[in-house]
Amino acid sequence: MAFADTNLYIDGALRPARDGRVYENIAPATEAVIGRAADADTADAEDAIAAARRAFDNSDWSTNLALRLDALTRLHEELTRAAEVNRARVSAETGAPIGLTRSYQYDLPVEFIPWVVEHARSFAFERDLGEYVSMGSPTRRMVVKEAAGVVAAITPWNAPVQINLAKIVSALAAGCTVVLKAAPETPWSAALIGEAAAAAGFPAGVLNVLTSSHKAAIGESLVRDPRVDVVSFTGSTETGRRIAASAAESIKKVFLELGGKSANIILDDAEFPTALYGSLGVCFHAGQGCSIATRMLLPRSRYEEAIGILKGILESVSYGDPNNAEQFMGPVVSAAQRDRVMEYIGIGRAEGARLVTGGRVPDLPAQGYYIQPTLFADVTNEMRIAREEIFGPVLVAIPYEDDDDAVRIANDSIYGLGGAVSGSPARAMNIARRIRTGTMNVNFGNVFGPDSPFGGYKQSGNGREMGAEGFEEFLETKVIGTPA
Ligand code: NAD
Repeated sequence: MAFADTNLYIDGALRPARDGRVYENIAPATEAVIGRAADADTADAEDAIAAARRAFDNSDWSTNLALRLDALTRLHEELTRAAEVNRARVSAETGAPIGLTRSYQYDLPVEFIPWVVEHARSFAFERDLGEYVSMGSPTRRMVVKEAAGVVAAITPWNAPVQINLAKIVSALAAGCTVVLKAAPETPWSAALIGEAAAAAGFPAGVLNVLTSSHKAAIGESLVRDPRVDVVSFTGSTETGRRIAASAAESIKKVFLELGGKSANIILDDAEFPTALYGSLGVCFHAGQGCSIATRMLLPRSRYEEAIGILKGILESVSYGDPNNAEQFMGPVVSAAQRDRVMEYIGIGRAEGARLVTGGRVPDLPAQGYYIQPTLFADVTNEMRIAREEIFGPVLVAIPYEDDDDAVRIANDSIYGLGGAVSGSPARAMNIARRIRTGTMNVNFGNVFGPDSPFGGYKQSGNGREMGAEGFEEFLETKVIGTPA
């Protein structure tokens, strides 16, 4: 299947890269070229930053709430209208099964936009603190929340529409202007937002969308540029560390949503086998999700029983062509990602973990970057496969002795992004409160929603995206005093 080439969106216009450069978009499911995207370089990034700065400084975008909410309402309409074309593009470039575009890979993040619009509409941008006599001056004080400025949104390829919209919709609603920099692997999931903004008649410069084959150069120029006030980044911890260091030069506000190695704790009174179906998370978009619970902690008393059930569950997963609605799992995003995951599977074997099932690149009739659903048993929390983010369909199963031991192992990680626990409700809830992590699902609850703040503890990042907290990341606080 071939798709139309896409443009950059800069200063209110859809246009090619300055020198007309394009690059090929490869489908992970077939390894075939399915189209092209504009290939921005730093000169295009310069245009985008200048446009966003002008729109922030010289237009009424940051102060005119009604203008912003009308624009976002039209953006929602355009993304809804183009849903069928867009879901095909998103599924093709990410390799995510088409069914996932009916949930978090397209429809859900689009459905979330009206929540942000209504939240901004009812948000108290001003708060009266009343009077206070300080140093002899009776003063009436007012706290004013103002847009933080120009935002650079730098995003990854695993859930690109969701992450792109989570950043830009809140930022725009708050009154910021935005330069969105897409991951090289998934340009169309950003370009389609530029197309919708153009169709929605956005004022020039408030949103700018860059697609580029350059992995680091465009992002680095955004992070370094003194005209950018806020960096909102999702991606690897390694890149996040580099961005935080570089942004420190100009003391930017930095939001980081980084990696995870979340634990799914199965208590000995959990319902077997139901609770073990949580293992399917590692096959959700082939395990390419930052908050997937990739360490399963099992009670030693029921360890072998659980391993037997998990083997059956993972071996029942259907995988293949993402366009076939029967398939639960598609490929990983690229040859590089497949090689990285296969390297980790090799590391697991070398560390002495027991490979229970999977571990190979399957023999499928078609091309594509597929990996078998993989289970390692006899894993200790010291092994690299238990400590490092693999970002593929690989589950590691770790035994524990009692509830305290389970909590200790779950918390013994540099990460703290997601997590889950299954068992009798009061006991599971008690454990949920003890895990140092940004989200926790108890007995198959699912926290994901427009009003749910998302983000991590420890090296999983700082700040929150979405919900009331995510909105306020894009605001500055000013206090104004007048004589009482
Ligand atoms: P990455 O961190 O390299 O890239 C994420 C984004 O940052 C992309 O847009 C990339 O072009 C940009 N970027 C890369 N280097 C940069 C730099 N020096 N300055 C500014 N921007 C830069 O992540 P990736 O290549 O997409 O994936 C690598 C690994 O990251 C994955 O295997 C996975 O472990 C992890 N990852 C995590 C998440 C998450 O949501 N936490 C998402 C995707 C990937």
